[in-house]
Amino acid sequence: MFSSWLSRLCRGLSTPTGRVTHLIQGSLSRRLMLSSQRRIPELSSFVARTNTCGELRSSHLGQEVTLCGWIQYRRQNIFLVLRDFHGLVQVVIPQDESAASVKKILCEAPVESVVQVSGTVISRPPGQENPKMPTGEIEIKVKSAQLLNTCKKLPFEIKDFVKKTEALRLQYRYLDLRSFQMQYNLRLRSRMVMKMREYLCNLHGFVDIETPTLFKRTPGGAKEYVIPSREPGKFYCLPQSPQQFKQLLMVGGLDRYFQVARCYRDEGSRPDRQPEFTQIDIEMSFVDQIGIRSLIEGLLQYSWPSDKDPVVVPFPSMTFAEALASYGTDKPDTRFGMKIVDISDVFRNTKVGFLQDALSKPQGTVKAICISEGAKYLKRKDIESLRKLAADHFNQCSVLGKLRLECADLLEARGLVLRDPALFSFLWVVDFPLFLPKEENPGELESAHHPFTAPHPSDIHLLHTEPKQVRSQHYDLVLNGNEIGGGSIRIHDAELQRYILATLLKEDVKLLSHLLQALDFGAPPHGGIALGLDRLICLVTGAPSIRDVIAFPKSFRGHDLMSNAPDSLPPEELKPYHIQVSWPADSEAEKSSLNQPYHPES
Ligand code: ASP
Repeated sequence: MFSSWLSRLCRGLSTPTGRVTHLIQGSLSRRLMLSSQRRIPELSSFVARTNTCGELRSSHLGQEVTLCGWIQYRRQNIFLVLRDFHGLVQVVIPQDESAASVKKILCEAPVESVVQVSGTVISRPPGQENPKMPTGEIEIKVKSAQLLNTCKKLPFEIKDFVKKTEALRLQYRYLDLRSFQMQYNLRLRSRMVMKMREYLCNLHGFVDIETPTLFKRTPGGAKEYVIPSREPGKFYCLPQSPQQFKQLLMVGGLDRYFQVARCYRDEGSRPDRQPEFTQIDIEMSFVDQIGIRSLIEGLLQYSWPSDKDPVVVPFPSMTFAEALASYGTDKPDTRFGMKIVDISDVFRNTKVGFLQDALSKPQGTVKAICISEGAKYLKRKDIESLRKLAADHFNQCSVLGKLRLECADLLEARGLVLRDPALFSFLWVVDFPLFLPKEENPGELESAHHPFTAPHPSDIHLLHTEPKQVRSQHYDLVLNGNEIGGGSIRIHDAELQRYILATLLKEDVKLLSHLLQALDFGAPPHGGIALGLDRLICLVTGAPSIRDVIAFPKSFRGHDLMSNAPDSLPPEELKPYHIQVSWPADSEAEKSSLNQPYHPES
């Protein structure tokens, strides 16, 4: 396990992608120049080490090196294994009298203390090589050592195989980040984002533009975080996405925009959501759906990690209607079949009461999922759990989609492989409806994507008569059953935008008067998309949660368990914002916890 993570980490760091050049000697500037030609990062420039722990091999034999790292473990006061982000290296603790002070430092420093050692790279004695360690052919004969900082008793061991609760990992996140797994995830994320920037800016002329995070409420979308201002009764909102700004940039003639954008949504806890998350946000003028789709396919192909199977383009596409009919969801996992099939015709003349009943209803259908080898693999208790799931979600249309996924889980629990973890199955879902009935009030409409999405050109005539029938120019990108992106061609006609906002969505257009005005001043046709970076990286790395690809995520309940945010403020600090807390009756304890020591969520 460890060696596979390590080799993946190293592969990502040291694979030469260009001309191979020898660079061992020479000035710093020459080394930097050569490494930029080779496109291998120089990992030891500007700092107090000559090499990383993980990079040393037999080719370095005889070299004098200085290494800095954390003490991973010590064996019999003879060997010490030193770790940095790049890997592990064995250091031989000198035993002779003349090196007594070096021995004392290396033998007495607790595990996870930080040390600097200088010495010679030597080969391990025959038979003592460790083939599981990338540096296993060599060791360091130490001449001098310095204790840079000591480490107190840790709340958990820094070893990937040591199990710890997520709450503890989040409370001591800075320690958790030392694990190879977290190092791998965050470094892969950084490399992918760099490749995306390269593709967008250098190859396709996009401009990286930052947009404000103190903004105002956007009608018709996710719930937003509210920020008090010093003006009585006035609040900023944190943007749920840079949507309005990127459209305004198009009006401003910045016709290819992108941003690695932080977005905020106060949507409560869900396993695959975070209150603050990152989007690769993109907008272009004079573009159609096909243009955006090709751009994104190229972007993913270009930035895809080299240790994964290459991305095959173009991605297949499916209409929203087809996705619902065949997979029972608008984000189908197309890695396996077991599609939903309509078998109503078979039962037209049935005498079976509940089927007759279903078919007699308007639009009533009988649908089935064929589980090949189901009889062989599924046990009675599996069938029971399927029956329970169906009963729990009775009358939701999405129930068949849930059953399909549950069947796949059950079959996989019995040893069948339906969803190859190495397979990345991308899919465009298109032709969404422009509006959906509001969940809390089905008589009213809400946007299926957001209110700036343009109607499908073939359905515009239905906008005034049958708005529910209008399809939109909204597209979602799905990967292995997860929505990883979504976007649309936008409305650039102010009148149409006003009609949709005011008449169909019953929103307060005053809130968007700036945007409506901008559309009137020669707004170009435009469209865009946003990729959910956290979810994408989570799928690429195979991490169990998006929290594993974010350096400092919030807990399931939206708290920062390390610093205890959100936190209380004393009344005098709230005064400038004209805010008073009205404490709920049962929160006396919380009130008195102001300035009390903090206890993390368990
Ligand atoms: N702003 C949209 C979102 O966050 C994406 C887009 O339409 O470009 O879902």
